[in-house]
Amino acid sequence: TFSPIPSDFYGYENLLADREKAVLTELRHYLETEVRPIVNDYWARGEFPREIIPRLAEFGLFGLPWEETRPFENSAVFRGWIALELARVDASVATFVGVQNGLVMGAIGVGGNPAQRAEWLPRLASGELIGAFGLTEPLSGSDSAQGLRTVATRDGDDWILNGSKRWIGNATFSDITIIWAKSAEDGQVKGFIVPTDTPGYSATKIENKQSLRIVQNADITLENVRVPEANRLQQVHSFRETAAVLRLTRAEVAWAAVGNSIGAYEAALKYAGERIQFGKEIASHQLVQDLLVKSIGNITASIGMVVRVSQMLDEGIQRDEHASLAKAYTTSRMRETVAWARESMGGNGIVLDYDVARFFADAEAMYSYEGTREMNTLIVGRAITGKAAFV
Ligand code: FAD
Repeated sequence: TFSPIPSDFYGYENLLADREKAVLTELRHYLETEVRPIVNDYWARGEFPREIIPRLAEFGLFGLPWEETRPFENSAVFRGWIALELARVDASVATFVGVQNGLVMGAIGVGGNPAQRAEWLPRLASGELIGAFGLTEPLSGSDSAQGLRTVATRDGDDWILNGSKRWIGNATFSDITIIWAKSAEDGQVKGFIVPTDTPGYSATKIENKQSLRIVQNADITLENVRVPEANRLQQVHSFRETAAVLRLTRAEVAWAAVGNSIGAYEAALKYAGERIQFGKEIASHQLVQDLLVKSIGNITASIGMVVRVSQMLDEGIQRDEHASLAKAYTTSRMRETVAWARESMGGNGIVLDYDVARFFADAEAMYSYEGTREMNTLIVGRAITGKAAFV
């Protein structure tokens, strides 16, 4: 019989279908036995454990939402739990999957025509191809809806891309990268599937990150990169479609933020049951219980929020501001929760071996990527006041 994890205090997991519960249980076992033991070491070295990719693909994690690739019909709540479960063990692994499955396959799923979807989605789902999603640039982060400098110029049946990208996850080893560029013809944003062995394309690893160290981020340079019209995402007409992809992935980052919070909370709870001060476990000191209870409160409120946001997707009523509120809210609660976990572990809270230091550091990048708290706040602010306050 299935029972929700204790950190799912109100038992939201019971909403899942039986098959979804079975896959989640199997994934949980795999992550605990094969992934959790290796992540601190990879984090310390700043490397990605590529040996886990085939197993993640076998679970079907890369193609869950798309008709062409899903292993079985599944709900948005289930996909959210997958993101939570991955991040509960390691937020970088959740981010890797979020890029492959959410951003890259999302760009092709939303922006590709049927032929493009048939050509690319199955190869990404199987892990044969690894993808990256290149939107952010050195001079354009939060303002990428209007500020992109990368230019696409039409040349017969081809396009020529020039520009640069920054922070692109998975891009040190991706086989294809989705490049978002402004068309020199109509000034609109277009998306291109760029094989990374195309002449003029180069990617350099960003070194010395102190958050999500396992995720490999790159600076990309595009110098007269020639791609055929067949590789332009045919259903992308403007940034509107880019935003549609980001709405889907933001909601999943909100789930991953809950997972990262749970990872830290569970490590702190375990530690509180073992560490003895003043002759008894610190779990029996009132102020330590206060930190733990505030944490389960944050987690429980956040799960309620992300569950509803995912249900709204399946009901066809989820809008940008719904996903943005969840992303801004859960990442803010995460920042509090990881800090309380850190605090309750004293000095050991800053040592990688006790796990919480990793969850604590990783929270910072999650707070800022996929739209900073400020950007997501302004998206919600625009929706509730009718006034755009970005500039
Ligand atoms: P900026 O836009 O320069 O913002 C700096 C600060 O100013 C922020 O606090 C911001 O909220 C604030 N600010 C900006 N404008 C306003 C305003 N109008 N009002 C109030 N405050 C404002 N990008 C990709 O394309 N693909 C990826 O795979 C990817 N992966 C990433 C992985 C990691 C680990 C990180 C750190 C980033 C990644 N990014 C990726 C980029 C990420 O999306 C950007 O970092 C993010 O959008 C913020 O942009 P920025 O860093 O340029 O900050």
